[in-house]
Amino acid sequence: MNDIRKTRQQMLTEISGLRKRIEQLEGATVRSENSDSQTIKPSRFDSLTGLPERASFFYSLNQVIKTAHQEDDRLAVFFFCLDRFKLINDTLGHSVGDMLLKTVAGRLAGCLSPNDVLCRPGRDEFMMMLTDLRGRDHAALIAEDVFTSLSAPIVLDRHELVMNGSLGICMYPDGSDKAELLIQNAYSALQQAREEGKNTYHFYCPKLSSTEFSRLLLENDLRQALTRAEFSLRYQPQLDIGSGRIIGMEALLRWEHPDLGFISPDEFIPIAEQIGLIGGIGEWVLREACRHHVRCLELGCAPSRTAVNLSPFQLHQEEIASRIFDILKQTGMNPHHLELEITEGALLKDYNLTIATLNELHDLGIQIAVDDFGTGYSSLAYLSMFPISKLKIDKSFVSALTTDQRSETISRAIINLAHSLGMQVIAEGVETQEQLEYLRSHNCNEVQGFLFARPLLPDDSIHFMATATQQTVSGVFPG
Ligand code: C2E
Ligand code: CA
Ligand code: CA
Repeated sequence: MNDIRKTRQQMLTEISGLRKRIEQLEGATVRSENSDSQTIKPSRFDSLTGLPERASFFYSLNQVIKTAHQEDDRLAVFFFCLDRFKLINDTLGHSVGDMLLKTVAGRLAGCLSPNDVLCRPGRDEFMMMLTDLRGRDHAALIAEDVFTSLSAPIVLDRHELVMNGSLGICMYPDGSDKAELLIQNAYSALQQAREEGKNTYHFYCPKLSSTEFSRLLLENDLRQALTRAEFSLRYQPQLDIGSGRIIGMEALLRWEHPDLGFISPDEFIPIAEQIGLIGGIGEWVLREACRHHVRCLELGCAPSRTAVNLSPFQLHQEEIASRIFDILKQTGMNPHHLELEITEGALLKDYNLTIATLNELHDLGIQIAVDDFGTGYSSLAYLSMFPISKLKIDKSFVSALTTDQRSETISRAIINLAHSLGMQVIAEGVETQEQLEYLRSHNCNEVQGFLFARPLLPDDSIHFMATATQQTVSGVFPG
């Protein structure tokens, strides 16, 4: 019991010691920033080991960083701490403790090259500045040398001591390019090494927040998703509001991650756009949707058109119209059966390029719908300049249609606007009969939403098309 208490007490002492060390290091950083230690070389030495003092080490590190920056050199700061030194000092006496520190200092110095610097910033701590490194592997070899050099027993005053320690490493410039941060980061790597066990070294690695980390993992997986065939499409029917006939299907992308299951396109499409993958993914979607449409035609149950979402990044890609045309040709898809959904935001970017591309697509016979309409800020003048055949009322307005006056006003305005510009209008996200009735009574042309069908697997979409009573959706529309 006594032993347990003692161990706890030792741990608490160590923790408070560590806190003090962090404060000292932070203090040293602030002092060093304010002091002239960067310009005038301090010349004090540790009286016990004869090693340079911390200020001197800091000065040398700063000097080396200056030239390393110019010459693209690799450096490292090692922060080493002996295990159980206090215990030895307390039990075997201070003179043994002092001799032990001198021996350890000598062994550590033996691992270094002539231009490297060793110092003792604290009682049982040593810092090393390693220069002329070839890289991280080279630093790791020297770290191994440090532990090997300590592995031979140290004989002092008839006591044979085997010393263990932990080592934290921060590389320049990956870990930091500032002397104070190199030291601090090496120290935090030391704490990590201590947690990992005896005679362990740990490289400082800039911490990623959990969201950054999961984003990074997702990015890596996304890069391989196409080749691993993890993408698939769903098709959501679009209906004529008057007759209930299925007139279109919107292709919606799905990513089945091997560990995480289905990931929403709202989550991964923005990442694909940012890391430059959307072009390849978008082309895959288009090719797949065209193939599906042609297959539906062969089975005698194709909708009049298939709608495919085109990201703003794709719209502004070089020669996008001819790439799309190539895919249509390769798959045997009639351009008049293709509708591209482009968000309102995409129209607002790079006006001249957008209008030229949309005109090219329009000339091929492809129809253009503006997705998420009402969420951007396109002016009427703008809209009338583009060859747009349809506006798609964003589902945020549709879902609040019968409960929020503002959404109702905006939806009505969009319908009137589309009609006055000679365009059709479709409402997406229709979930209730009341929303459908409202849209019908305000002359919206088409509807899409869970009220009629969720996005369907390719075969289910064919089945849906084939069985919808006389091509109308029973129960919702009068037969
Ligand atoms: P979007 O183009 O506005 O697609 C409509 C979204 O609303 C789809 O979500 C659809 O499943 C969902 N939805 C349809 N009906 C209802 C309904 O009644 N209620 C509700 N609450 N939601 C409904 P999804 O499939 O998760 O797609 C989300 C977004 O991801 C799409 O929004 C689109 O911006 C993007 N996306 C999907 N597929 C592609 C693609 O192939 N390429 C590009 N660039 N973007 C895509
Ligand atoms: Ca869409
Ligand atoms: Ca939308």
